[in-house]
Amino acid sequence: MPAGLGEFDIIARHFAPLAAGLPGALGLLDDAALIDPGPGQTLVVTTDTVVAGVHFPHDAEPEQVAAKVLGVNLSDLAAMGAQPLAYLLAAALPAGWPVGELERWLSRLVGRLAADQATFGVALIGGDTVATPGPLSLTVTAIGAVAAGRALLRSGARVGDRIFVSGTIGDAALGLRVLAGELPALTAGDRAALLDRYHVPRPRLGLGQRLCGVATAAADVSDGLVADLGHICKASGVGATIDAERVPLSPAGAAAVANDPALLSLALHGGDDYELVFTASEAAAPDLAAIARDLDCPVTMIGRITPEAGVGERVRVLHHGTPLVVGTAGWQHFR
Ligand code: ADP
Ligand code: MG
Repeated sequence: MPAGLGEFDIIARHFAPLAAGLPGALGLLDDAALIDPGPGQTLVVTTDTVVAGVHFPHDAEPEQVAAKVLGVNLSDLAAMGAQPLAYLLAAALPAGWPVGELERWLSRLVGRLAADQATFGVALIGGDTVATPGPLSLTVTAIGAVAAGRALLRSGARVGDRIFVSGTIGDAALGLRVLAGELPALTAGDRAALLDRYHVPRPRLGLGQRLCGVATAAADVSDGLVADLGHICKASGVGATIDAERVPLSPAGAAAVANDPALLSLALHGGDDYELVFTASEAAAPDLAAIARDLDCPVTMIGRITPEAGVGERVRVLHHGTPLVVGTAGWQHFR
């Protein structure tokens, strides 16, 4: 820890207030926390780390770091259909940081965590605080609950199921390009919208919970739509065909693709969207329409589950009926 600021000062001053809402957190004063998932519930547990210079820029705002580390974890709970209960936070803070700077950074981090806790109905229940000679890193372990036997798994997709995604796809990957100073032809508003999607995941918790018993398989889009759908296919022993022109783009994403059609490839393959990709039987379409309406969450059918093809071609992408493969330079048509 930086001189003059001990581990326990940091926990008491900054982190303990985030645990106030949850009796099982024991004020972050005991050796561990207590969680009661309730009768007939199964705990759902996931963890993800974000590292400065890897998952966010060194100069990212602390609010962005907070939103990202909590959001990516809650997105995994969403993909399982779980309701979040609590999370742990392991913070490795640069040993050389001047105390004042560290305190200001932590206050802003905690301010955003508090706001997101209220939004998502979750509280801090424990963690670890260490000094590191390396870059700042934060690890969240998120804990949720789902009715026993009702979790959304990746392994349930069946041939003939339809494939759906929530929201819009590709914004975060395009936002990363904006962060790199690219896409200068976009309006300032479009660039800001894409950047925001890169920095701030919005986990689809409500949708995930409503999909239990409706979807046959689900995953969150963290690695990229095609890759994450590929994970569903692998776990389910099936293949998939998606129609690229059906994949929903935001107004900013559509503007980027209109300026440079090769960016459609980036949208389909780029990561960090934190939308849900899921499969459901054709008969589930009316239920899905009702869920989308209730939650005010767009749900778009983008393709169908097929028999398993080769390992290298689990997910076929068509564009207006023409098969496409991705080369290093973007989409290439087979003609
Ligand atoms: P131990 O050394 O027994 O592992 P620690 O000193 O690491 O205990 O932590 C003391 C208490 O403070 C524990 O309840 C732990 O969960 C909590 N805690 C430590 N760091 C954090 C943090 N970053 N966020 C939330 N709780 C924390
Ligand atoms: Mg410890």
